Amino acid sequence: METAEIRRRFTAHFEAAGHTVVPSASLLLDDPNLLFVNAGMVPFKPYFLGQATPPYARATSVQKCIRTPDIEEVGKTTRHGTFFEMCGNFSFGDYFKEGAIELAWELVTKSQADGGFGLDESILYPSVLDGDEEAVALWKRITGLPDDRIVRLPPKENYWSMGVPGPGGPCSEILIDRGPAFGADRDWDAGDRYLEFWNLVFMQDELSAVRSKSDFDIAGQLPKKNIDTGMGLERVAYLLQGKANMYETDVVFPVIEKAMALTGKTYGKSYEDDVRFRVVADHIRSSMMLIADGVTPGNEGRGYVLRRLLRRAIRNVRLLGYEDPALPQLMPVSRDKMGETYTDLILDWDRISRVADAEEEAFRKTLAAGTQIFDLAAGDVKKAGGTTLAADKAFALHDTFGFPIDLTLEMASEAGLDVDEQGFRSLMTEQRERAKADARAKKGGHADLTVYRGILDASGPTEWLAYSQLETESK
Ligand code: ATP
Ligand code: MG
Ligand code: MG
Ligand code: MG
Repeated sequence: METAEIRRRFTAHFEAAGHTVVPSASLLLDDPNLLFVNAGMVPFKPYFLGQATPPYARATSVQKCIRTPDIEEVGKTTRHGTFFEMCGNFSFGDYFKEGAIELAWELVTKSQADGGFGLDESILYPSVLDGDEEAVALWKRITGLPDDRIVRLPPKENYWSMGVPGPGGPCSEILIDRGPAFGADRDWDAGDRYLEFWNLVFMQDELSAVRSKSDFDIAGQLPKKNIDTGMGLERVAYLLQGKANMYETDVVFPVIEKAMALTGKTYGKSYEDDVRFRVVADHIRSSMMLIADGVTPGNEGRGYVLRRLLRRAIRNVRLLGYEDPALPQLMPVSRDKMGETYTDLILDWDRISRVADAEEEAFRKTLAAGTQIFDLAAGDVKKAGGTTLAADKAFALHDTFGFPIDLTLEMASEAGLDVDEQGFRSLMTEQRERAKADARAKKGGHADLTVYRGILDASGPTEWLAYSQLETESK
């Protein structure tokens, strides 16, 4: 079943059940805790928090999401993208646990001929928060499954909150058993064997304190109970398309095919190359979607995330053996697939491609200037029998050639070396202090702008970490 058809069936199912169809919001909503929208519920937050009255009691959406903390997983697990689409249904004080379970189970198990996904019941495992006997009883009654097919999971997995006082509640995830090739029997943590593809959040509690994912105080029950669910569109797509992972779906794989044609390498032959192909396909798509929503490459915050995604895509194509400009070849392939849903990609393509191509050109200059220096330094370390690239080398690469530290870290790790990262950070701090002192010495507060450049460059990678840690809303 094509991704477009899965999207259509999801929406039709919930529309028929009285939900208002709400289009995806931009990836860039104003939210002090979030760099990007990372779940379907984010645009509805004011309704869940009681700050605004929803114009409907039930809604459904397919929301664009970016999860920067998942960047390291991309290509290595079968199921994490930096960009993905979350299909969701929401109840604002309307139906609760029973309705949510019924609606999800019906769509998942109804035959494809009748408009459902037709997934095989015998390999589906609903999970609940350990102790949520109300949910256990409902799952058993609605699905007819025996008790031992309902998986009890701890709060770390199945309790949802926003990481701050406010609404919270137990979750139920629907897992599908992908078989022994993906992990051990009943090892729920082997995330690729028991693949979670739909998460139902039963928002029922009022939390007075949240100290961690499993340590919080429930002050009482919410006056109005809500439902928030999220089904990964890509995850269902690769399940229904009989593919191994989310990078091989009808929407994402064409970029891998194009990358094969450019590099002359074949996907499916070596693990290392396959990870690179998947990183390329994922990052091309997420950076394109970010540019479409108005992000431009920069040295901090959102712009830095975009820069890092573009540069990682470009470097991975190079590592696969293609040295010419890659984005003009690859991004249009992703545009043609995603443009069916997000028509602004087509309408605004001139601007989007210009932003991407300019960044590639700048990055190619950076690489041309610094790669030789890096190779020399790395060669010296190895010749001397060492394993660590010294801080002053990493600093010189940054200061003179504009190599961000994470580029140096990645290249070093490819060369089998560590980097004295702590030493690098102290050199950066020293430079920042010097710059501040210089600025103070200048008259009348007309500080030299290059000073700020230095600070921005320095804070880039730090921002990256800080922001990804702020993304606490993962369910
Ligand atoms: P996982 O445990 O696999 O990381 P999650 O529990 O973090 O997933 P949720 O926050 O519950 O995911 O999001 C709801 C649904 O969105 C998931 O069940 C999954 O289908 C999908 N999803 C979450 N993260 C990603 C991602 N990085 N790439 C693709 N789909 C995702
Ligand atoms: Mg999970
Ligand atoms: Mg996750
Ligand atoms: Mg989940």
